[in-house]
Amino acid sequence: MIYDVVIAGAGPVGLFLACELRLAGISVLVLEQTEDPRSPLKRLPFGMRGLSAPAIEAFYRRGLLNDITAPLRVKDDAGSSRTSIAGPEMQQPRRQAGHFAGIPFDYDNVDTSKWPYRLPSPATTNMAADMEHIETALAARASTMGVEIRRGLGVVDIDQSDEDVVIRTNGETFRGRWLVGCDGGRSTVRKAGGFEFTGTDPEFTGYSVQVEIGDPGKLGSGRIYTPTGMYFQSRPGTIAMVDFDGGAFHRTQPITLEHVQAVLRRISGTEVTLTALQLATTWTDRAYQAKAYRKGRVLLAGDAAHIHSPLGGQGFNLGLGDAMNLGWKLAATIRGHAPAGLLDSYSSERQPVAVQVLDWSRAQVALMRPSMHSRALEAIIRDLIDTRDGATYFAERVWGVSLRYDLGGSHPLVGRSAPDFELVDGTKLGALLSKGSGLFLDFDAGRPFQALASGWGDRIAYVASDAKDRLGLRAVLVRPDGVVAWAAEAARGHEEAAKAASQWFGEPGKMG
Ligand SMILES: Cc1cc2nc3c(=O)[nH]c(=O)nc-3n(C[C@H](O)[C@H](O)[C@H](O)COP(=O)(O)OP(=O)(O)OC[C@H]3O[C@@H](n4cnc5c(N)ncnc54)[C@H](O)[C@@H]3O)c2cc1C
Repeated sequence: MIYDVVIAGAGPVGLFLACELRLAGISVLVLEQTEDPRSPLKRLPFGMRGLSAPAIEAFYRRGLLNDITAPLRVKDDAGSSRTSIAGPEMQQPRRQAGHFAGIPFDYDNVDTSKWPYRLPSPATTNMAADMEHIETALAARASTMGVEIRRGLGVVDIDQSDEDVVIRTNGETFRGRWLVGCDGGRSTVRKAGGFEFTGTDPEFTGYSVQVEIGDPGKLGSGRIYTPTGMYFQSRPGTIAMVDFDGGAFHRTQPITLEHVQAVLRRISGTEVTLTALQLATTWTDRAYQAKAYRKGRVLLAGDAAHIHSPLGGQGFNLGLGDAMNLGWKLAATIRGHAPAGLLDSYSSERQPVAVQVLDWSRAQVALMRPSMHSRALEAIIRDLIDTRDGATYFAERVWGVSLRYDLGGSHPLVGRSAPDFELVDGTKLGALLSKGSGLFLDFDAGRPFQALASGWGDRIAYVASDAKDRLGLRAVLVRPDGVVAWAAEAARGHEEAAKAASQWFGEPGKMG
């Protein structure tokens, strides 16, 4: 049997991509090397992932948001429903909205009027979920949709021709018309596919540990910079620390209690005693990116395409954005109605986003170095982040609300995430995107755009309705990934609308 798409890796990116492809009727096989997806490192406290606005929107638009975040939803101090990033016991008295290298910024300082096209939606709240729960929810959705997931089969080699890709695992051999490597930072697909991977080498080994401390009073709580590094005790015994050893320790030796204690003593400058090591993992600030995300019939997404330190908490969000961007483009290519260049726009849109995230993580490393220069820089950032403009700038980057693809187009909304318009009958735009097709939203009853949109059949759903707040718009064309392809404030612009529809949905009249 030949599958339309084989995905290597049942992490969050591979599973979400599988759901996106099935939504478009594509046959998908997911190969996962581990037998059992469960791991204590995927649960609280280490497994927690803060969701950026684009990630929340992606889950929301596919009707997955409640499944992903349900167990963690709490009320915030303003009484609105949101989910605690840190878990209830770690909530800060300040309304912390995020951080840069541990320097927090406040909700109350963020000037949301700078984003006039962001209507209230789940993405305007703060959400998080643990990795195990995210993967369980995505795997359940994927299976319900008919995705085949085979566990215990790791990809070891691949061989592609003009027609297909042969994928050899430690057990069986499979064939797919396309292969997507979502197999994490040490991706076999990336290596076997000959993708060039370049970037900056690590400055430190990072540790996330759960320990019992004999003399807890010796350590501080919260994030503490010292002359030799940084440690962060988020709750008693849950410690993250960075040791500027050039990344020398990471994955070279077993992580023992004695070693963790020695590193913690050196970084904290105390004689703290650890009595038990319950959980430990290491990571680094290596920041690398694949030079191309596609080679023939092989593509990369998520950590397989880019790695960086988890400091800013953006890797999962970045990977999910890759999957949301790639799924409908690959599906359209397989179904035969993709316009020229559609699949390559995956790389041209997503690579610059990863470049920014990698640089964001590098900037945080520069600020964390154990040097007087970095402490001086930290003092300046602390001052700036406390200003309204500063908090707004950092929120824009950390929440992902500044994301805009360069799609051309004359309206400032083009290339941005579509506002979550609420139609007069209460339907929200998010729900209108749940089937994964494009959307032509015509806010006027006259429906002059209906004939235009109908040319693309089920590739573009046409909806005519006024909205409670239409933000001055007359009509908007939205891609399946929720990105605005065209927008107009007057009943003109048929030509531009038709051009945008052809650019993203192919020739009109072609069967979907
Ligand atoms: C300590 C830590 C904290 C983090 N915190 C955050 C955060 O707060 N926010 C955030 O956005 N990101 C965070 N990240 C990053 C985030 O976890 C990753 O970016 C995300 O998991 C990437 O998802 P993925 O599906 O691309 O890869 P992975 O989650 O690595 O999944 C890859 C899958 O592929 C499988 N696999 C590997 N090789 C093969 C093979 N040869 N064949 C088949 N299967 C294979 C693996 O077993 C795995 O299941 C953190 C990372 C760490 C280490």
